[in-house]
Amino acid sequence: ATPTALLVGTGRGAQLGILIKGPQILESTRRVDTVVLDKTGTVTTGEMTVASVHVAPNESADEVLHLAGSLEHASEHPIARAIADHAAQTRPLSGVESFENHGGRGVSGVVDGRAVLAGRLAWLRDEWSPTPPSSLRHDAQAAESEGRTPIWVAWDGAVRAVVVVSDTVKDGSRAAVSELRELGLRPVLLTGDNRGAAEAVAQEVGIDEVIAEVMPADKVQVIERLQSEGRVVAMVGDGVNDAAALAQADLGLAMGTGTDVAIEASDLTLVRGDLRAAPDAIRLARATLRTIK
Ligand code: ADP
Ligand code: MG
Repeated sequence: ATPTALLVGTGRGAQLGILIKGPQILESTRRVDTVVLDKTGTVTTGEMTVASVHVAPNESADEVLHLAGSLEHASEHPIARAIADHAAQTRPLSGVESFENHGGRGVSGVVDGRAVLAGRLAWLRDEWSPTPPSSLRHDAQAAESEGRTPIWVAWDGAVRAVVVVSDTVKDGSRAAVSELRELGLRPVLLTGDNRGAAEAVAQEVGIDEVIAEVMPADKVQVIERLQSEGRVVAMVGDGVNDAAALAQADLGLAMGTGTDVAIEASDLTLVRGDLRAAPDAIRLARATLRTIK
């Protein structure tokens, strides 16, 4: 191999907005046949907004937003930021005591003297086994089927509301997926979010293999399983919860707009956070290696 050709490859990468940790990475890129894409912040913008608030009989939406928003203010999750920002527009937020972040499930803490939980229904049930009003279940299901994420809010032992948050698919995501296919790669969507939201996003961008409702710590096992099936896996992600999977993948690609841990765990960084740089990177690696051989 001529080192000059490899350096040309990495220089061209910089022009395309792709930072390559070292020229040796080009070799592992050549064998990749599967590209696992994280959903939130990778395929979607991750800039969530509150779409609607649904309350149980006798609850006030204002109260729900205030308690949930105050609690979520202590979290940095995109869902949390959406709910806290939305709530702060109507009323100043209260402080939180005994805040706990339950990764991939939700958050808990004490706000205005009330023990508040916000997160997935399955987790709320494990914690308190409350039964949600059927009207809320219906609202949550409708939200999921539209590709949105319902966040369940409970306090003092009862389920009170569903706050629906929505995310937007990035402009280049659909084009990126079709380019990956043209390169002969199999795209897979991987997320901790509900199956409905995952399927809706997958359909919008043209992915048919979806792995949803995966706990943060289990994302790495999904990569290992694909590898044990003989697949050579590239993973594209942005979050703290993607870092182990990015490191385990044969090729890790981080969104430059993502977290430092994700970038550190990866071989390549897509500087502008545009998913179209993923097929660019793979094409570049193949072209560079062709030059050398
Ligand atoms: P992703 O894989 O899409 O980045 P996460 O693993 O971070 O998602 O979260 C999975 C699910 O856990 C979310 O869709 C949400 O239902 C719940 N969750 C996580 N963090 C929070 C939070 N701060 N508030 C409420 N729900 C949360
Ligand atoms: Mg993410």
